[in-house]
Amino acid sequence: MSDGTATTARTTTATTAPTTTIDDGVVRVTDVPTGLFIAGGWRASSSGRTFDVRDPSTGAVIAAVADATPEDAMAALDAAVVAQDAWAATSPRGRSDVLRRTFDLVHEHAEDLARLMSLEMGKPLAEARGEVVYGAEFLRWFSEEAVRIGGSYGTNPEGTGRAIVLKRPVGPVYAITPWNFPLAMATRKIGPALAAGCTIVVKPADLTPLTTLYLARLFAEAGLPAGVLGVVPTSDAPAQSGPLIADPRLRKLTFTGSTPVGSALLKLAADNVLRTSMELGGNAPLVVFDDADLETAVSAAMAAKFRNVGEACTAANRFFVQAGIADAFVTALTDRVRGFRIGRGTEDGTTMGPLIDERSVDKAARLVADAVDRGATLVLGGERVDRPGTYYAPTVLDTVQPGSAILSTEIFGPVVAITRFDTEAEAVRLANDTEYGLVSYVFTKDLARGQRMAERLESGMVGLNTGVVSNAAAPFGGVKASGLGREGAHDGLEEYLETVYVLTPDPFAAP
Ligand code: NAD
Repeated sequence: MSDGTATTARTTTATTAPTTTIDDGVVRVTDVPTGLFIAGGWRASSSGRTFDVRDPSTGAVIAAVADATPEDAMAALDAAVVAQDAWAATSPRGRSDVLRRTFDLVHEHAEDLARLMSLEMGKPLAEARGEVVYGAEFLRWFSEEAVRIGGSYGTNPEGTGRAIVLKRPVGPVYAITPWNFPLAMATRKIGPALAAGCTIVVKPADLTPLTTLYLARLFAEAGLPAGVLGVVPTSDAPAQSGPLIADPRLRKLTFTGSTPVGSALLKLAADNVLRTSMELGGNAPLVVFDDADLETAVSAAMAAKFRNVGEACTAANRFFVQAGIADAFVTALTDRVRGFRIGRGTEDGTTMGPLIDERSVDKAARLVADAVDRGATLVLGGERVDRPGTYYAPTVLDTVQPGSAILSTEIFGPVVAITRFDTEAEAVRLANDTEYGLVSYVFTKDLARGQRMAERLESGMVGLNTGVVSNAAAPFGGVKASGLGREGAHDGLEEYLETVYVLTPDPFAAP
């Protein structure tokens, strides 16, 4: 079909998935689940309702997905509670094997997953393929971590007893994920939860539920027991989330999304004293010093800014460039930005897809207009792209002035906002002038300066002469309004473990 999309839905029994085929005229994906995944089976919403998923590159509806009611989500939690003890008692090797088998299945189905992400989120296929590799890594990494949970045994300082410290799973988890990395944001939570022995109910973003549903199908195929994972997409996130978060059987809330929603969820979680992990918004500074290698800085800046069309929490938001290198940097970067090929994510050769929705295009346009009104120079772009779908042209702004909204707002779009500076102290002050603190990027050939910056920047992560920091083996996370907790590394597993301390008397003491 050339008009965008054709979908055919068929509803089957409770244990097999209601599925759809998506064909956008360029790619075709079959057997995409569209039901709710609850207690190891697939079902329609108890309301009978569905909601539409659209391709942002055309605006066409690509699938209708079961719209979970609060009762459906509660059924998923019921199943997670029932499954919790047996899953926690499953050997670490057994849990590891399920994760590893799912890792293999994700790779077997890599092309379908990449196409699905490209269709529901808009990212170019090449980037979607990259996300499959990255997202799958959390399954492999946590399959390896599952057998390294550990604990300790030692003599207390007085010598009168033995202290044993053991780890056990927190208990049933509720996970809420965003739309920008539909696979990786799910595996980054499901991987460690399952490795630790927790059961988990996932609410994917309603803009991109298909990838998570497809992933659930792969987990089931890998032998994950019923109830250990539930997936309940809904068009009414607050109505679903409130009762789950208030339920005393739930023991952890893990959220990736915007800071205002995270903050509201933290308030709800407080009533139930839940363990929480919060991966929230960012406003990353990218600092280029005069002594930086220009080619390294430009290439890394392209990745840090334009990966996922700028729709990444790690996206470089504010560029601070030292006066001596600024003209060369702006020229070289702008040349590279001119090279983007805008198009539908599924089309060959596309290097920049659409933004997720109209609201995001409006926001980029508003921020650029405000910056220009306040004195910024528009070097390139600064306009919507005249084609169906929600596109905004890659844009470069130079000499952005203090007070511009673009400096204090997460852009989430393909806009470079450059401010020039003179001294290292000024760079530190400018970079830290934000309530966010997820990641910072620094470019310099002076190692000591790089280290000084890394120690002084208020962010949970620093890319030193590199533009991409994400890795399953790295403790990913922010400080300040960018969140609480870490995902990935061994730290990511600890987020799903309780520490239990046991004291016994000295076994050599006379009775
Ligand atoms: P969002 O906060 O609007 O939505 C995130 C998720 O929360 C979605 O599933 C949404 O349905 C749900 N949600 C929204 N309101 C809710 C409510 N009241 N109760 C319960 N659930 C609710 O964010 P988004 O637009 O989907 O994602 C973009 C944001 O996510 C950006 O701020 C980005 O920086 C952040 N993000 C952070 C990280 C990180 O690791 N720090 C990673 C990716 C995205």
